[in-house]
Amino acid sequence: MAVKRAVQIGDPAIRTKSAPVASVAAASTKKIARDLVDSMRHHGLVGMAAPQIGINTRIFVTEIRTTDTRRRGGADPVRVFVNPKILKVSKRRVADYEGCGSVAYAGLFGIVRRAHAVTVSARGLDGKKFVLRAEGLLARIIQHEYDHLEGKVFLDRMTDMGSIMGREELLKRG
Ligand SMILES: [Zn+2]
Repeated sequence: MAVKRAVQIGDPAIRTKSAPVASVAAASTKKIARDLVDSMRHHGLVGMAAPQIGINTRIFVTEIRTTDTRRRGGADPVRVFVNPKILKVSKRRVADYEGCGSVAYAGLFGIVRRAHAVTVSARGLDGKKFVLRAEGLLARIIQHEYDHLEGKVFLDRMTDMGSIMGREELLKRG
């Protein structure tokens, strides 16, 4: 188990476009995925991308479960996305609150409009290509983590900066 610090905005790693993974089978790839899962759980996140542990490579992980700021909704098991590509996004957009492990120490959350559904292809740790159609929260997390690989954070996607709120206020809303 290796929990890594969540690199914060201001660190160049968060604003750098990440490079594709050359070998999915490499031990280093598996280690990054493992460290991301450990770190995501430790920091109470439902997704985490490699740039957030200071590694500019195209891997992110997701896992939907109950956290401090997310107490309702369904669950989704750990998924690893290596060299992901967003193939399709739905026309329907949904606005909802988002936070980010790399903005967490500032404690900011804000409303971001995202596609309700998304189709993504990626390789898993077994090296096999898969295509996943996700909707709702998982689709939101995938779009958020994919943005990290492009050097973007959720604040860049906000259209109404007036919706920004601190962590305590978000918790009040359950
Ligand atoms: Zn994030």
